[in-house]
Amino acid sequence: MPISYYQARERILSAVEPLAVEKVLLLDAAGRAVAEEIIARQPLPAFDNSAMDGYAVRAEDCSAGAVLPLAGYLPAGGEMNCRVAAGTAVKIMTGAPLPPGADAVVPFEETEEAPRQVTLLGLVKKGAHIRRQGEDVRPGDRVIEAGTVLRPSEISLLASLGMALVPVRRRVQVAILSTGDELRELDAPGGAESIVDSNSWALAAAVREIGGVPRLLGIARDNRESLREKLSDGLQADVLITSAGVSAGDRDLVREVLDELGVVQQFWKINIKPGKPTAFGLKGKIPVFSLPGNPVSSMMTFEEFVRPLLLKMMGHRTVLKPLFRARLQEAVSKKAGRLQLMRVAVALDAQGELQIASSGDQNTGILRTMVCAQGIALLAADRERYEAGEKIDVHLLGAATALGY
Ligand code: AMP
Ligand code: MG
Repeated sequence: MPISYYQARERILSAVEPLAVEKVLLLDAAGRAVAEEIIARQPLPAFDNSAMDGYAVRAEDCSAGAVLPLAGYLPAGGEMNCRVAAGTAVKIMTGAPLPPGADAVVPFEETEEAPRQVTLLGLVKKGAHIRRQGEDVRPGDRVIEAGTVLRPSEISLLASLGMALVPVRRRVQVAILSTGDELRELDAPGGAESIVDSNSWALAAAVREIGGVPRLLGIARDNRESLREKLSDGLQADVLITSAGVSAGDRDLVREVLDELGVVQQFWKINIKPGKPTAFGLKGKIPVFSLPGNPVSSMMTFEEFVRPLLLKMMGHRTVLKPLFRARLQEAVSKKAGRLQLMRVAVALDAQGELQIASSGDQNTGILRTMVCAQGIALLAADRERYEAGEKIDVHLLGAATALGY
């Protein structure tokens, strides 16, 4: 009995734990998930400073037309060498520390400057244009949750806190094996009946897209010796992915050899279309995916099942893509009984609402339909038809770190 899409995901995700933590240089952490919660040890800003170019003053001295003699000049990064005594002002630049005595900054635009004095054009509020120590971050604040993908904004925060090294999970190493007598290497001369192994490249690109390290094992032929050699090599990686050779026509050679090598199959069919003959096994802690051979099926099953597992291993907090509710442009029919993963073109209408339509022939032999798709829509197992205008769950292809995955 094939297990459901949802059960398969649950079984896969519960089989793995995050990889070991390593500390990497700040820039090398960009795009990866931080392994630990980040707690600020220092305030941001680190000291009270001016938010504008202008004059540091005491608000009580300021009325429209007041003339204040200048008691000093504070550029950003300059040394603190003055104070604001009653009835005086200090010229100050953005980012310079607020001099003792001052409780407000008047921007240049609200003053008239003469050589040794400044004339104020209006009233000044206490606290105006001052960035207070700790107003952004206080010591002890939990500023980044464990498992957050580090975008430029998080990198900025970590840099501000002085973190030159960042704890992240090790990049997952993924061995990728294509199987089949009909396959040839990308650059090998081929006869009319051989086809180029494209799955290796598609899967490697998908691994790399999320920050994993693909290791291409090449092509195993449809015989035990070839499979044994390549699969045992692949079991040295953190994760092994094979494609093809698991449907009935192939005598299930891949699974037989994996069995021999000590891989315990957890399940070997999922109630989805496409991608039904997707198997998942474990050798100790090493997950092994046997994906279908069709290029479209292998890419889609990677997207739905392998990707979340790899993200979990690399310590991401969010591993499943969010589902958007998108409006279907035209009716679709399907057979009841299997969840269908439909490749869809996604667009925004004039109201900014998501619209989806089939991206073309849904036959798994049609690669172009995958190229034309921006999303995958989930058509429920028990449904036979969806009407135009219905709202359907869709997730988008490609990376989107803003939402955490
Ligand atoms: P199989 O799962 O072995 O029945 O393969 C299903 C289809 O996918 C066949 O048409 C294969 O030729 C094709 N196929 C299998 N492996 C690859 C691959 N690595 N690259 C491109 N096409 C493949
Ligand atoms: Mg085959």
